[in-house]
Amino acid sequence: MHDCRPLLEKTDFPAIHRGKLTTLQVNLGYLCNQTCIHCHVDAGPRRTEIMQRETIDTILYFLRVSDVKTLDLTGGAPEMNPDFRYLVHEAHQLGVKIIDRCNLTILSEVGYEGLAEFLVEHQVEVSASLPCYLSDNVDAQRGNGVFARSIAGIQALNALGYGQKDSGLELNLVYNPTGTSLPPSQIELQAAYKKELNERFNIYFNQLFTITNMPIKRFGSWLISKREFDPYMQQLKEHYSEANLESVMCRSLLSVDWQGYVYDCDFNQMLDLPYANQGKRHLSDLLNVNVEGTPIAIMDHCYGCTAGQGSSCGGALD
Ligand code: SF4
Ligand code: SF4
Repeated sequence: MHDCRPLLEKTDFPAIHRGKLTTLQVNLGYLCNQTCIHCHVDAGPRRTEIMQRETIDTILYFLRVSDVKTLDLTGGAPEMNPDFRYLVHEAHQLGVKIIDRCNLTILSEVGYEGLAEFLVEHQVEVSASLPCYLSDNVDAQRGNGVFARSIAGIQALNALGYGQKDSGLELNLVYNPTGTSLPPSQIELQAAYKKELNERFNIYFNQLFTITNMPIKRFGSWLISKREFDPYMQQLKEHYSEANLESVMCRSLLSVDWQGYVYDCDFNQMLDLPYANQGKRHLSDLLNVNVEGTPIAIMDHCYGCTAGQGSSCGGALD
């Protein structure tokens, strides 16, 4: 795989600083039942990096002593961490809102029976990738058969109340482009998704989040191999929107890797670009520390967050 980092280090992206910390985004490990082409984590079934119980207890301690109100769980497939249910149960007891970045197919894997019911019981918000409402496009990006299993996963969640009006069980879908284009209008695409998915499969969801593909890891390597890296970066820079700077997710989120080290965001974690450019810092170093005002570590990939309508784990920024 081609290393994108040397191509991103020299940057003219403007300096940014942290605001109030509201969200801890935790990567529970790189193990996944899928191997999607755009995956910025290079996750897959053979990865062995998994967060251990001791680090999970540090996460829970951090939640106890901080004002952080949202725990955002990612991976890999976060549910494949053997302590996933322990963490969710304990965080729920603390009154923290939990988001599970679920790939939907995990719901039908052998050994994960009862997962959907567990998510309901703990009022977990589900955020699920579905890069298209057409089967061929999804299978091309995420693997053969993934679309049908994803639809079945949404149907199972709908049957338990997810995405249904007034249920309080939020199901959001995530779209990212299949190629090198920027995402289309989030509002317009959400309307099309709602119409198509309802008409074709009788399924429901709350919001659609559009996310720009980041020029790092597997997608970045693919860009390099297709000689598309420089044109893609140029496109991101040409569509730079200063208005998005205020709301880039690193201003309010702290990203934690499977070993407990902290980063300004998940993308920086994947580039091994440490929190605030301070060298490797562990979450246990930040207990009772006010991070507001700390400079954020930036490189050229940050243009992926500010291009066009902007991009974050919660979709468009403007
Ligand atoms: S499901 Fe998510 S974590 Fe797993 S390979 Fe696909 S993009 Fe990566
Ligand atoms: S890539 Fe990360 S550090 Fe850069 S702007 Fe986006 S969220 Fe912030």
